[in-house]
Amino acid sequence: MTNPSRFIDANLTLDAFSDKTLVVCPKCKGKAIVSSAQIPESAKLHCSSCHYTNNKPINIKDRDFSLTTDYYFNCELWLQASFKNELFWAHNYEHLAYMKQYIGAGLRQRNDSEFFTLVEKLPGFIKSAKNRDKLLKLIDKLEKK
Ligand SMILES: [Zn+2]
Repeated sequence: MTNPSRFIDANLTLDAFSDKTLVVCPKCKGKAIVSSAQIPESAKLHCSSCHYTNNKPINIKDRDFSLTTDYYFNCELWLQASFKNELFWAHNYEHLAYMKQYIGAGLRQRNDSEFFTLVEKLPGFIKSAKNRDKLLKLIDKLEKK
């Protein structure tokens, strides 16, 4: 057996990835992006396929934490797939790559942190070693989406 790869928790939270979320365009069903800005607090939906754009003022505190849609426009997440009876999803390709490192690692090392990090909060089916190979295959598919 080769040396297991090691994942060292970078102590990131979901906020590190949630400022840009890939979604299904409400007009053409292509890949669109929802981004948020702090000053002034606003959210923007933009589709590079059909050029549909929508802007709106938001209150970041009032985010709608749905697992299947973005926080502000209620559009379906682009990077999601069902896994057994669970749902695997990511905000964007960077988020997907970060979870891929975690899932693929044989050794998972925590760092001291005063809060729960993104990977500590992942649901059990993602943490489970027995799902590793299937999850990595699913991620490969999503990466090409
Ligand atoms: Zn579109």
